Amino acid sequence: QAFTVDTAKLKEISLHFENELRKGLSRVSRCLLPSPPSSPHSDESDSEDYFGFQTEEGNLPMNPTWVLGWPSGRETGEYLTLDLGGTKLRICWVTLSDRNNEPIVDQEIYQIPEHYKAGEAEQLWSFLANSIADFVQDRELEPDEGTVLPLGFTFSYPAVQEYIDHGVLHTWTKGWDIKGVEGHDVAGQLRQAIRRKGLPIDIVALMNDTTGAMIASAYHDPETIIGAITGPGCNACYMENCGSISKLDGHSLPANLPMAINCEYGAFDNEHLVLPRTEYDVAIDEESPRPGEQAFEKMSAGMYCSEIFRQIVLDLWTRKLVFKGQSATKLKVPYVLDIDFMFDLEEDFSHKLSKTRMLLRSVLQLDANDAELLFCRHIVEIINTRSTRLSTCGVSAICRKKDIKSGHVAADAVMASRPRLKARWAQALGEVLDWPQDREHDPIIMTVARDGSGVGAAVISAMTLQRIADGDL
Ligand code: BGC
Ligand code: MG
Repeated sequence: QAFTVDTAKLKEISLHFENELRKGLSRVSRCLLPSPPSSPHSDESDSEDYFGFQTEEGNLPMNPTWVLGWPSGRETGEYLTLDLGGTKLRICWVTLSDRNNEPIVDQEIYQIPEHYKAGEAEQLWSFLANSIADFVQDRELEPDEGTVLPLGFTFSYPAVQEYIDHGVLHTWTKGWDIKGVEGHDVAGQLRQAIRRKGLPIDIVALMNDTTGAMIASAYHDPETIIGAITGPGCNACYMENCGSISKLDGHSLPANLPMAINCEYGAFDNEHLVLPRTEYDVAIDEESPRPGEQAFEKMSAGMYCSEIFRQIVLDLWTRKLVFKGQSATKLKVPYVLDIDFMFDLEEDFSHKLSKTRMLLRSVLQLDANDAELLFCRHIVEIINTRSTRLSTCGVSAICRKKDIKSGHVAADAVMASRPRLKARWAQALGEVLDWPQDREHDPIIMTVARDGSGVGAAVISAMTLQRIADGDL
């Protein structure tokens, strides 16, 4: 029962969400710079002056991204892209022809050593720069005489951007905790590391993964309205008119010019006004490196869903209700379960849940009887259902705020490629938006997002370079 979110509650959350979106657009969330950097491309001075944000507790960041307008679909060229996600580093060499041709993506994945996530800035940036160096050397990538290779950098954390190739990390999320980055320009820090390696590369654009997902999808599919991520973290991006972003008033941008907004809505309801938190949600928050932050994310993102599952099972084990007499050594390890665990259990259609039995044994070293198997399956279902239903609150709020009646929500494959989750999402969205029961089609549908941090980052880089060439920057 504690995990049930009924239609009335969904609507209440979604309405509150809409208000928060509006407030976030007017609130000044820019970092407090005592004086602006001398030039957009100057290195970041490593002073503490960068730190500090004018924040009004609890409001959504709603970060302007400086991605101005939708892609035309005619963007072309070759770009280097870098994706610093929750677990991996991905570097690509992307060749864009145009909307009608599949982009060519030559990629390499680099595992980020686990301890780096709680390490020092220097270590992280050197690792990135070294990986880039390996990548370009392996492929013998060289810029044309007198130029540099353009790099699109996808940074999946909340960064406040004063311009497109800049972004001050507000706070680490998803359990990351690297010292010396919060309050600093991450593009500047990476740029310095690249320079130290002597690489002929420059960062053209810094972007959020949701922005990349939205633009990559729109490059191929003009019906795209939102880019949404529900992997390790949760967040969405949509297009707003500059005239409605009142915190940009000083910038004299045309009122009808669209600009992508990175909502950073994992931070929704950090004041805990509307979200129906359970004791497990409270525990997860308190044990996280940043208690009180990312309230919505901690109830809906995949990384936390599997942790909620672990907490529930551990709780019942402690009360001797399940897995009696078995060792809980594995079960006691925080975040021992990855996101896939939750989906694998839900999508176990094997005879007598034999796959679930096997997974519980291999990952948690637990031997489940039939009742325990069903119990685990049921717990997974209620956690995933709550997560999916909650995630429609953000999307529906955006659609109402913008008066969007139809279109495609480009979501990462974690969600969009799972029929059960997708069906639940559509059901919940219909409940919040009062779609007629007997509708023939859902007016707003979820599509699998195109490659945001590869193709998306390349398209945004192309759009940016075009604007520079046109003298629009
Ligand atoms: C980050 C967002 C990101 C999301 C999905 C959140 O924790 O704050 O920037 O878009 O995760 O990766
Ligand atoms: Mg990612």
